[in-house]
Amino acid sequence: MKSQDNCVFCKIVAGQIPSNKLYEDDDLLAFHDIHPKAPVHFLVIPKSHVDSLAECGPGDADVLARIMLKVPELARLAGCHNGFRTVINTGTDGGQEVFHLHLHVLGGPRDQWKSPAF
Ligand code: 5GP
Ligand code: ZN
Repeated sequence: MKSQDNCVFCKIVAGQIPSNKLYEDDDLLAFHDIHPKAPVHFLVIPKSHVDSLAECGPGDADVLARIMLKVPELARLAGCHNGFRTVINTGTDGGQEVFHLHLHVLGGPRDQWKSPAF
């Protein structure tokens, strides 16, 4: 069995688990976090499974760049008007719980963020 067979984010990509989608194209999916730590909290993932940033190689360069370059537009779309925070948790000590690479985007009024929000 491949690691992605039981991956919750691969199941979201496949439509087997519902999600509140913000953006989708051939390579990327952005959806709102199920347990938001800030008024705006969404995740951006490559549709193709890779466990974490630590497992990425040269073949992932394009999708990583596309994710980073898409974030400001998606943050505005989601309602971030005064900036946002991007976080990638990597590995157990990095606090990663879902082992399908994802970038968190958090925003909204700072006094409404949950503590600690990374
Ligand atoms: P990590 O700790 O791996 O960086 O973050 C995983 C994130 O995925 C958490 O913020 C968690 O709330 C979110 N998450 C886990 N399962 C689901 C799910 O089924 N749907 C959505 N929308 N978010 C999820
Ligand atoms: Zn996956």
